[in-house]
Amino acid sequence: MFDPKTYCVVVVGAQWGDEGKGKLVDVLAEKVDLVVRYQGGANAGHTVVTGESQFILQQIPSGILHPRVTCLVGNGVVLDPETFFTELDGLVARGIDPKGRLFVSERAHLVMPYHKLLDRASEKSQNIGTTGRGIGPTYEDKYGRRGIRVGDLRHLETARGLLRERVERANQLLGLMGVAERADLGAHFELVARLAPRLVPLAVDTGLVVHRGLREGRRVLLEGAQGALLDVDHGTYPFVTSSNTTAGGAAVGAGIGPTAIDGVLGVVKAYTTRVGNGPLPTEATDGMGEELRRLGGEFGAVTGRPRRCGWFDATVVRYSVRVNGLTGLAVTKLDVLDSFPEIPVGTDYVLDGHACGEMPADVRVLERVKPHYEVLPGWRKPTTGARRLADLPPQARAYLDRLEDLSGAPIRYVSVGTRRDQIIEV
Ligand code: GDP
Repeated sequence: MFDPKTYCVVVVGAQWGDEGKGKLVDVLAEKVDLVVRYQGGANAGHTVVTGESQFILQQIPSGILHPRVTCLVGNGVVLDPETFFTELDGLVARGIDPKGRLFVSERAHLVMPYHKLLDRASEKSQNIGTTGRGIGPTYEDKYGRRGIRVGDLRHLETARGLLRERVERANQLLGLMGVAERADLGAHFELVARLAPRLVPLAVDTGLVVHRGLREGRRVLLEGAQGALLDVDHGTYPFVTSSNTTAGGAAVGAGIGPTAIDGVLGVVKAYTTRVGNGPLPTEATDGMGEELRRLGGEFGAVTGRPRRCGWFDATVVRYSVRVNGLTGLAVTKLDVLDSFPEIPVGTDYVLDGHACGEMPADVRVLERVKPHYEVLPGWRKPTTGARRLADLPPQARAYLDRLEDLSGAPIRYVSVGTRRDQIIEV
């Protein structure tokens, strides 16, 4: 992805999340100076396997595992300070030294305990399949212009004043929602007083850091969470997350202009999964879905929830190529398909007997489409040892060629296992 003209690259999930972005960011981080998380919160977990160790990163950019890389939590992220420091302490306990190379945007909004109460209360009525970690209500407050930002903790008195109003409002809402539980103002004061002394020294203008870095010729990776089909504008609304996961969100959430971005890598699984509710046209509802889940270990990294599994959906990835402006694809988990004698690929959707080339905006329409499948021969050989395309069985290469043709973007990486070294650069 990086060449003499490419300094700033976005890594996005091009399906419904969990595509293996953490692994790709970890692999690419070797070549960069800065990694920035640009949206989402502690609901998304990236799993990175380095040698024998496994790390699950929720809010800290995956680049932290590389000692040379500076990591920034961008303004587009909603930061849960409590879990942020738990995660940080966990990394330190495992020998990672983040000193002087982990910073947080002073503009990032804070997830407070009252947001989690509101999240759980609204999930009961809306049933979107959220993780109850307060992400949605924090973004609602951001856009409702009543958020509390990292920079507000610089003045504890100001923060207390804001908390007093917000907690009172949250408790009124909880009452209206018919929930008995209430947010405790004293506990909020205590939390903020305890964490501010650790958080404030990390607070900077992260957009400025990226801007200066690029001007000095440093390489930057912008790391997204979730996937394009969960984008609040472009995803399967309302079964979406509360932020712009797509590449446009990267510029906004990192605090740089879109012209600073040189390339966008879309991470796709060699098949499809989704967590939570909402349509999944190529879902394999027969035993094959179970088999994909078992072989791919398709359970949420943070929540442990089983993921719904199905075949590669080219309509989704074509759409993702378009809305993200993808300049390359990274296909992950090819090895999960190693044992299948035949592999269906959803090439297109059929709606009421007619081909429907584009992704419908309306989930009610998407619920009704039937995928058109092409069945490709499997390879029935392990791919986990392949390090060059030429090492792959011919059927696996044909499978990748077909995915590339159907998707409309070149494949730049193929991942064949969880470990760092299990990657093919095309
Ligand atoms: P992310 O949020 O997009 O980073 O994805 P997750 O970390 O939630 O899920 C990806 C999972 O797949 C993790 O457990 C990774 O270790 C694993 N993974 C990534 N790439 C590969 C691969 O090529 N093969 C296999 N078998 N597992 C992979």
